[in-house]
Amino acid sequence: MIDERVQQLIDKGAIFYASHSGGKDSQDMYNEVSKYIPPDQIVVVHADLGEVEWVGVQDHIRSVIQHPLNIVGAKKTFLGMVEQRGMWPSAAYRQCTSDLKRGPIFKFIRNDLKARGTSIAVNCMGIRAEESTARAKKEPFRYNKAESCGHRDVWDWMPIFDRTTEQVFQSIAEAGQEPFWAYSDGNERLSCVFCIMGSVNDLQHGAKCNPELYRKYVELERKIGHTMFTKGKNPISLEEHTGISIDDLERR
Ligand code: SF4
Repeated sequence: MIDERVQQLIDKGAIFYASHSGGKDSQDMYNEVSKYIPPDQIVVVHADLGEVEWVGVQDHIRSVIQHPLNIVGAKKTFLGMVEQRGMWPSAAYRQCTSDLKRGPIFKFIRNDLKARGTSIAVNCMGIRAEESTARAKKEPFRYNKAESCGHRDVWDWMPIFDRTTEQVFQSIAEAGQEPFWAYSDGNERLSCVFCIMGSVNDLQHGAKCNPELYRKYVELERKIGHTMFTKGKNPISLEEHTGISIDDLERR
């Protein structure tokens, strides 16, 4: 059953922007949103991360949605941003998310609302409490003060906030869909191929599937003298962290 507050926003003509990364949670979130929100009030948007995202992810999104896909992106690139700053982002300072995803998506929402001559937006995200302690503390439905102003009201909504990973996969299967191929091939989560918060398993799988991109990350670490990860308080190179040497990988 739909939340009464969401129903009120539907009745007021709000536009629901489904922020789709191509991952399983976005896929399930979109399916959930599509059950309740009239199709002409849904807009799908993907923040393109360029070479650092999985090849084919945008085609995957198109294959599992019934709406046009709006692709947005920042002027800068992930690796360019790291090189310029001389540091990798961290869980505490996620410049990558704010500058490469959130910023372009909200810019798109502002412009799209204006073009439609309407004023209420609901930013729909596939965030779930189970993913981390920090995410569990989030409010799944809240007024976004920072993005709202005198002529615009923006809400954040996490429609699958309480679902477990198992429920997400099950719900995707019940919708007659498959998640992106990298999951069945070994990935636990899907984001940038090499995420600053990625598990060793996902980094290893990313390296095996994308050796050229892996080399770029390894070489950038060397160039800027800063590593993506630490072991305790000490820096640890990506190659040591994954146990995969780029030279060995390319010889295989
Ligand atoms: S997936 Fe990871 S590395 Fe990529 S933008 Fe998000 S937090 Fe940053």
